[in-house]
Amino acid sequence: MEKIVSQFLEQVNSHNQNEPEFMQAVTEVAETVIPFIVQHDIYYGQNILLRMVEPERVISFRVAWIDDKEEIQVNRGYRIEMNSAIGPYKGGLRFHPSVNLSILKFLAFEQIFKNSLTTLPMGGGKGGSDFDPKGKSDTEVMRFCQSFMTELFRHIGPNRDIPAGDIGVGSREIGYLFGQYKRLKNEFTGVLTGKGVSWGGSLIRPEATGYGVVYFAKQMLLHQNESLEGKTIVISGSGNVAQFAAEKAIHLGGKVLTLSDSSGYIYDPEGIDAEKLAYVMELKNVKRDRIHNYVSKYPKASFHKGKTPWEVPCKIALPCATQNELHENDAALLVKNGCICVSEGANMPSTPEAIHLFTKNKILFAPGKASNAGGVAVSGLEMAQNSLRYSWSREEVDQRLQNIMNDIHKSCVKYGTEGDHVNYVKGANIAGFVKIADAMLAQGVV
Ligand code: NDP
Repeated sequence: MEKIVSQFLEQVNSHNQNEPEFMQAVTEVAETVIPFIVQHDIYYGQNILLRMVEPERVISFRVAWIDDKEEIQVNRGYRIEMNSAIGPYKGGLRFHPSVNLSILKFLAFEQIFKNSLTTLPMGGGKGGSDFDPKGKSDTEVMRFCQSFMTELFRHIGPNRDIPAGDIGVGSREIGYLFGQYKRLKNEFTGVLTGKGVSWGGSLIRPEATGYGVVYFAKQMLLHQNESLEGKTIVISGSGNVAQFAAEKAIHLGGKVLTLSDSSGYIYDPEGIDAEKLAYVMELKNVKRDRIHNYVSKYPKASFHKGKTPWEVPCKIALPCATQNELHENDAALLVKNGCICVSEGANMPSTPEAIHLFTKNKILFAPGKASNAGGVAVSGLEMAQNSLRYSWSREEVDQRLQNIMNDIHKSCVKYGTEGDHVNYVKGANIAGFVKIADAMLAQGVV
């Protein structure tokens, strides 16, 4: 089996040189899905995984815009239309200086499985730009978004490809992108998700990814007759996913000890309660400031410059910042300090070595494609509400989100149970694969 997997990976690597993040995501899937394919005649010999790793379409384009000093700036825009077997391409846009083809292809590949797990009819896609919104004025961000959409609009549409937010793309950016799309197409359609509630957005969409991460952790713990109540929780990041993971964790009785950004982490030994979290949201979303300022307001907390929060002893860890932010030594520390559950909010935040350590120590470990699927799930619900020209209540969307997260958990248990332990990585990969593979087989070689 090892030989089949390594031959497959060599073949993929030869077509995708210098794309380490993409190969990392493909390797994780190949190691769990290829043994399943070999055992199932209907999938064996169809080269389904080889077809899935090849994007249906990759679009790359120039984004020229004028900054506040009237200087011309040039960035690169992308959209990866990865797989449309079960629905139109769906996945976020990331604006961050680190964005490149490898990162977007890994995200688009993971998105296929994630979207399949939600049970909603959405294919996989991802896009973005190496533009950095940090430190830019609102007008600069608007001009960039308008230029970006002036090319992207011809490739997307409510039945073709429906982008959303990701790192660096929040409600402000979605607003500017939507405004330009509407102007260019002269139509008001649900072409983007994450819209404002008064112009077609869904209630609970901003909260959905973070809430879903905690709902998934709750299910994993419940499966072991455990609960979140009273447990210490370490969270990385302080953006959209981290904020709402913290909100739900506090709501369910957890004690949140940390938040972070790319400069370091804050540790509050008394716990970040709802009032302190409201301050963080104001700091990050309105003032667009750095997390270290938390300490000026709450002096009992400390700021740890240049460090990640995994050194803080906890029962539950929620990595919610970015890819490869939790390494083998961090995983070893978490295990040593008594952590029992890791639910990924970010995409691929744990390195393969860290995941191996978690699995070896039978830590409840949820890969992002399962535990952070709540965001895209509610995006799917936003698309449904747009098509119906109707909006569901907060309670209704939240209930649907909880049902979807519970169903994803059940699928992982179905395909990932190994003796008395659930391998959630294997469960998520196989459950996601089966639905897409069946659709691809039915649709012929295309
Ligand atoms: P935001 O832009 O709102 O926040 C990102 C956070 O991560 C910030 O605190 C940021 O700090 C930190 N961060 C970014 N890059 C790095 C880095 N290289 N090192 C350390 N910290 C970093 O993004 P989101 O909260 O939306 O996304 C976070 C993660 O969740 C991403 O992996 C994303 O793909 C994933 N995700 C998001 C979904 C969504 O609905 N938004 C859905 C599913 C997954 P700083 O400000 O210093 O950059």
